[in-house]
Amino acid sequence: MKVLIVDDSPEALAVAKVRLAKERVDIVCAGSGRDGLHAAKEENPDLVLLDLDMPDMTGFEVCRQLKSAPETCMIPIIFLTASESCEDKIKGLDFGAVDYVTKPFDAYELRARVRAALRTKHLQDLLVEYAQVDPLTGLANRRALMERMQQEWARIRRHDGSLAFVMIDIDHFKRVNDNYGHQVGDRVLCEVARAIARECRESDVPARYGGEEFGILVPDGNLESGAMLAERCRQSIVNIRVQSDDDDVRVTASFGVGDSSEANLSEEVIEQADEALYRAKHAGRNCVETSARGAIDHSVDAA
Ligand SMILES: [Mg+2]
Repeated sequence: MKVLIVDDSPEALAVAKVRLAKERVDIVCAGSGRDGLHAAKEENPDLVLLDLDMPDMTGFEVCRQLKSAPETCMIPIIFLTASESCEDKIKGLDFGAVDYVTKPFDAYELRARVRAALRTKHLQDLLVEYAQVDPLTGLANRRALMERMQQEWARIRRHDGSLAFVMIDIDHFKRVNDNYGHQVGDRVLCEVARAIARECRESDVPARYGGEEFGILVPDGNLESGAMLAERCRQSIVNIRVQSDDDDVRVTASFGVGDSSEANLSEEVIEQADEALYRAKHAGRNCVETSARGAIDHSVDAA
């Protein structure tokens, strides 16, 4: 884990570094409040040790800015203060710090407080991770997908980029559950998730949208690249075999593709994909439809 130490005194930085040398952490130092803010954004540390008295900016102000920025608000902060003033300690904690250490540091106390803060940070990271992952398939869940969608949307607004969205629905999935039971249904969902993930680039975000629905966010994508990805996934899903007693369970899926070229909101891209998916279902399933034109593929490999 990574610890950022922000202190205007080179001696204080050196002492803190020596004190933490035995902890298994990477240490990054910043010599001013402004550098500290910059380093916190660049280095994404797991903990910030923050001096209260600095000439360019007080520790309180650095703390306030870190806590108000989405990319740094989850990083725990321990104040380093020469002040024994109760008021400063209370103020620091009320600003969102998790703890404070009084200078000069006691070596064991500093290390113990750093360890305690990092333990909590680790648990917090796990919670954040669990909140974003679909437990059955291991893909991103709908919440995480929507967050990424908003981030990508903000990015393409700034840089004039594009994105595509692929909506996927397993055909007649209810029959799988009805005929073979939910355990087999779950295995089918996992295999479909794996097949989809395999076809994605590193930058794509495959997700379980809900039930038997999946979605893929394709950064920099358009209808053509989205449809090509969808077609690869379609073929991959057709090849899935899940064994259940004497039967090989096979499924197909239908795909709808939307992109950002004519959308004003990220939600509209999803609506386009959803409408295209609806048309794919009506076109006979196991095919890809885009928001702009007719079905790309009407392969009839349906089970
Ligand atoms: Mg200072």
